[in-house]
Amino acid sequence: MLQTRRSLLSKGSVAAAAGVAVGFPTIASAQQTFNWKMTSAYGKGAPFYMDGPGSATDLAKRIAEMSGGRLKIQVFGAGELVPAFEGFDAVRAGTVEMNHANSYFWTGKTAAAQYFTAVPFGMNFQGMNGWLYDGGGIDLWNEVYAPFGMVAMPCGNTGVQMTGWFKKEINSVADLKGLKMRIPGLAGKVYARLGVDVKVLPGGEIFPALERGVIDAAEFVGPYQDRRLGLQKAAKYYYTTGWHEPATVSELLINKAAWAKLPKDLQAIVENAAAACNVISEGWCQKANSDAMQDLIKTQGVIAKPLPDAVISALRTETDKVLAEAAAKDPMTKKVHDSYMAFKAKYDRWSEISEEAYHVKVRG
Ligand code: CA
Repeated sequence: MLQTRRSLLSKGSVAAAAGVAVGFPTIASAQQTFNWKMTSAYGKGAPFYMDGPGSATDLAKRIAEMSGGRLKIQVFGAGELVPAFEGFDAVRAGTVEMNHANSYFWTGKTAAAQYFTAVPFGMNFQGMNGWLYDGGGIDLWNEVYAPFGMVAMPCGNTGVQMTGWFKKEINSVADLKGLKMRIPGLAGKVYARLGVDVKVLPGGEIFPALERGVIDAAEFVGPYQDRRLGLQKAAKYYYTTGWHEPATVSELLINKAAWAKLPKDLQAIVENAAAACNVISEGWCQKANSDAMQDLIKTQGVIAKPLPDAVISALRTETDKVLAEAAAKDPMTKKVHDSYMAFKAKYDRWSEISEEAYHVKVRG
């Protein structure tokens, strides 16, 4: 009781100081508590996604702390409440209020969803944040999901991912022909055009398939996550060119009706906690990947190198075609594509003389 009175008092004082009238609805909603459920496309305990700084459980913890327990979110790993890729339908139906995953899993529902996770040959973490937060990206994301009764926001980022693991060296585009590779999504479509026999396997099946030679190559995430699967024990060539996922955004998907019921201050807490996790998770990836890459090269005999220029060029050409075809088929995808590419064109010019120039010419 004392606690409630005290928080009401402080809320009243802040509002009074800001010259805001405090009415009954504000006070009533400030007392209300919410118990929500959040599902994930990733298994319980998965580093970065489910556990650790900026993960789904960290996000829920931050929201509970910031709201003084007024918004409690119970987090479920893939398969605990709904299967990995059914979070979209669960949030849409209102079975759960939130899902933590990546929007590119939903391209079967709406093709435009690809742009809010990662675009091959697209923008890095900084550019992506620029577009999402300040370039209209989040507004478009919500426009894309409006017909499904959902809203979304970024809540994590892996940074640039690695091309992946290959049993044999790739010296030319011809070396890709007939190669059996685990690679999901849009990048898989691009590889397929260059003759790759594309396989889509869940994370847990990648190592045995690569080790037994069921596949010749595999993409997963980056040094830390890949080493955790043991991929370095099944293939020695680690290609580093992150053309396919230059900055992979984690998505916080929210049922719109549930969102509308939250008081403004709780909405602000969710938005700020998600933004914090976006930065904190990416920071964690930089540390974890720096350590893991050093270990892979120095102590595990991994040969890490970029893809040959001719292969990158062929991948770029096919990516442009795949993106253009998807945009031509669907007006919403075209709208998102045009916004993303317009932002990217300006950002690339700015990045060339700022971040990139620093890395190439200054840092050494
Ligand atoms: Ca990946």
